[in-house]
Amino acid sequence: MFIRETMRYFIETYGCQMNKAESAALENQFADHGWIKTAEADEANLVLINTCSVRITAETRAWGRIAHYSARKRLRPFTLVVTGCMAERFKEKMLQKAPGIDYVLGTFQKAAFGLVLDAVETGRHLESVEETPQFVFAPSHRETGSFSTFVPIMHGCDNFCSYCIVPYVRGREISRSPVAISKEIHDLAQAGVREITLLGQNVNSYQWTGEGGPLDFAGLLRLVASQALAAGIGRIRFVSSHPKDLSRATIETIAELPVFARHIHLCVQHGSDRVLSAMNRKYTRADYLALVDAIRSRIPGITISTDILIGFPGETEEDVEETLSLLREVRFAYAFMYHYNPREGTPAASMPDRVPELVKKERLARVMALQKEISSDIMHGMVGNEINVLIESLSKRKDDEVFARTDADMMVVFPAPSSRIGSFTRVRLESVQGHTFKAVEVM
Ligand code: SF4
Repeated sequence: MFIRETMRYFIETYGCQMNKAESAALENQFADHGWIKTAEADEANLVLINTCSVRITAETRAWGRIAHYSARKRLRPFTLVVTGCMAERFKEKMLQKAPGIDYVLGTFQKAAFGLVLDAVETGRHLESVEETPQFVFAPSHRETGSFSTFVPIMHGCDNFCSYCIVPYVRGREISRSPVAISKEIHDLAQAGVREITLLGQNVNSYQWTGEGGPLDFAGLLRLVASQALAAGIGRIRFVSSHPKDLSRATIETIAELPVFARHIHLCVQHGSDRVLSAMNRKYTRADYLALVDAIRSRIPGITISTDILIGFPGETEEDVEETLSLLREVRFAYAFMYHYNPREGTPAASMPDRVPELVKKERLARVMALQKEISSDIMHGMVGNEINVLIESLSKRKDDEVFARTDADMMVVFPAPSSRIGSFTRVRLESVQGHTFKAVEVM
């Protein structure tokens, strides 16, 4: 009888939550094929690098990893596969530059991943891997053992912000069928997941016109809320939201249904109208502030976080001051802050008046210092509050403490046994240590 050797894979994932969800989907395919995950790349029959193109640093890192694994192939045979945004962006160039790669699977080739595994298992090499005309969602994106996971509802983006590579590497927006979303949520709940994050580059423009439609994002939220609650899921989040597309109907739905986290991540990117326009964000500072007011007046107590991009071409000191004043006005719970780096192939890459590197870094440091102060004030102001948290794991520091997250994704540790992992509880926030709350459970 022929007994196949146990096939092992090693995976490295870079970049955004979408990439993490897609890696989880690829891992499910490995599992369906009977493959085992290994923590040692040198033991793997197949090494997969799921790459990111959003920043030059991410690409440089991935090129380094590709070179590393290509060199390891001189010592022993294994299959090297590259997926993700860089795979879509560079395709042929990648194979020429790194002949050690066996397969480069772009955005529209992932549906054929099973065929690649079949080929590797039988010692064959596929000459070409078919592309699908549009992105195909994987049936399941569950990360093994997690209580909180992503559910992709959309893919791609139609917005063409002038600095962003996403529309070029992930293609146009496509919405996932509500039936497939519902099935995935049901399966996740059965597998013990208690929190889901609906995921897309621009979830607010979800639009399903196929069977069961038409359905917009607010409609999908209502559908998902009823199914998730019935299945035992206790909290729903969604990312990313574009301010121009976050509708009043969506705000109303969140306000009415407490299963949605009292938190919204609403990327503003900049506080200056001039820069927002050059970024092609299609809203003004006043539009953004009005939206924040509408959210806060309808959903009292909600926290808001954001992304900030500093050092865009043409940015002046006055523009930076506008951003600092926006931070003071909105008081974000936290912000992901970056300085601009040109991405070849985007309109902003050829814009004049580049801000010098040192100036970008100095401006970003100022913005980060202010946000740090605001975040710390907000956290200290929350001490004494009682809030709901989802217990995710044991605390890294103490065996008799657990680690949990609030609605706003803030970190909390408190004494509780490991048997409570995966459940919601209510805690009183007692103090702040760095970016983490110390708390006690209140029953
Ligand atoms: S909304 Fe803008 S920044 Fe976000 S993915 Fe689309 S193009 Fe990129």
